Amino acid sequence: MEFIDLKAQYQVGRDNINARIQAVLDHGQYIMGPEVEELEARLAAFTGARHCITVASGTEALLISLMALGIGPGDDVITTPFSFIATAEAIVLLGATPVFVDIDPATCNIDPTLIEARITERTRAIMPVSLYGQPADMEAINAIAWRHKLTVIEDAAQSFGATYGGKRSCNLSAIGCTSFFPSKPLGCYGDGGAIFTSDDQLASAMREIRVHGQSRRYVHTRIGVGGRMDTLQCAIVLAKLDYFEWELSERARAAASYDALLSGKIGMVARPRDRSSVFAQYTVVVEQREQVRAALQAAGIPTAVHYPVPMHMQPAYARWSDARSAPVANAMAARVLSLPMGPYLDDASIARICAVLLGAAGAAPASCPKD
Ligand SMILES: *Cc1c(COP(=O)(O)O)cnc(C)c1O
Repeated sequence: MEFIDLKAQYQVGRDNINARIQAVLDHGQYIMGPEVEELEARLAAFTGARHCITVASGTEALLISLMALGIGPGDDVITTPFSFIATAEAIVLLGATPVFVDIDPATCNIDPTLIEARITERTRAIMPVSLYGQPADMEAINAIAWRHKLTVIEDAAQSFGATYGGKRSCNLSAIGCTSFFPSKPLGCYGDGGAIFTSDDQLASAMREIRVHGQSRRYVHTRIGVGGRMDTLQCAIVLAKLDYFEWELSERARAAASYDALLSGKIGMVARPRDRSSVFAQYTVVVEQREQVRAALQAAGIPTAVHYPVPMHMQPAYARWSDARSAPVANAMAARVLSLPMGPYLDDASIARICAVLLGAAGAAPASCPKD
């Protein structure tokens, strides 16, 4: 069993993907070829944002977004401690200070009720993460940002395709950033990412920063980076977009199958009704995680932990935080366990995973209520 089955995914799109790759090899425009603009137009339309700027990775998307806002030394950026390290990394790389606001234990996303107390005159932006594929509480976060004139950057690296209040993730705030890392819900076959915004000025700044701050050839009006997504990777995402909606429905099917077998029997990440997840991960909450993990491993079932050490507890980030600053994140980091997930995970496999999981977690067998 695979944790995420990328080979099955390739087989479904194989002819289309191969043809798209061949087309790039034939025209030879490997950097900023026609597929780059084609993909940007398709993705912008998909999310509803006015602009899409493809970039080299999800990390680069976060970095370029912060650069476009002019964030640097002396600036604070509020974020969650419970994410992949790239979120905080982009902030500190620019010399800004990450301010880690604890998470809601139900959803594992940043707790909006704790944000305002951490805003100071140094605060410039809020960077929530839509963890496990489920949007953070963006309406509450946007309202806080509006009151304090801050910019909200959604780290939507795991949530491309998810919705919140009927709108797509990546178009829920001033800026949205996603990743096309192969195992993300919409992945390429290498590194890639994209930034979304409906602000024309920010978009043109981001486009310049992506190519070394160049406004015209060899005229550098800003400090930029080498941050382009290459044409081949864009071509692959274009091919995969053709069956992405179907994949999303299969992800929802797999999650519903898990739900049916697990709800009420094991701790789960809450999923409020006003949003939908794309299940980048299907994550449960268990005590004695390492024993449960070992039992699954012994049954040939791969699992993962997202994330075992919150960012504020990482050695390199110690100076920006202390161990007491996010107790909920610390508690969840010891308990979360991600199960195999993806559009190609069949219901028989899910049934087997759940049987082993419930056995190992010591859950009571399914009861037959008499009422
Ligand atoms: C994957 C991920 C990133 C980084 O994306 P890359 O494309 O690997 O650089 C950033 N933030 C989160 C939450 C992620 O899951």
